[in-house]
Amino acid sequence: MRCNVCYQPILIVRDKILCPECQNTFHRDHLAAWLLNVDYCPTCREMLSPQFLKELRPTSEAERRRLQEILWTLDNLTNTMANYERSRNMFKKNKYKEPLFPDGIPLGIVFLFFIAISFIVVVILLITTLF
Ligand SMILES: [Zn+2]
Ligand SMILES: [Zn+2]
Repeated sequence: MRCNVCYQPILIVRDKILCPECQNTFHRDHLAAWLLNVDYCPTCREMLSPQFLKELRPTSEAERRRLQEILWTLDNLTNTMANYERSRNMFKKNKYKEPLFPDGIPLGIVFLFFIAISFIVVVILLITTLF
């Protein structure tokens, strides 16, 4: 099973925690870090009970700092992933829209132009051979 904050597998059972509202799984530290600033589940957005929050919230300054650092790491991770997704999407979009010629002339028009030129050449050849 995976953590719904970092999307990594939860390897140690002791690290696992369930959202009481949606039953989604999280790393205990990752859910605790998320809950430093808000009162709701990151997945279902339901408000969590005060007892549940109390269980996860830091009891010491050192613990609070540790969770804050985890939160920053997760923020960086999600930003990096968002940037990665954005650049991937841009790449995909460019690939679809990518013009076949750098100045944006579609291949169809070039092909028609080529056909027209060939037709004119053939006509000229016919005229010169016939007359
Ligand atoms: Zn996690
Ligand atoms: Zn939930």
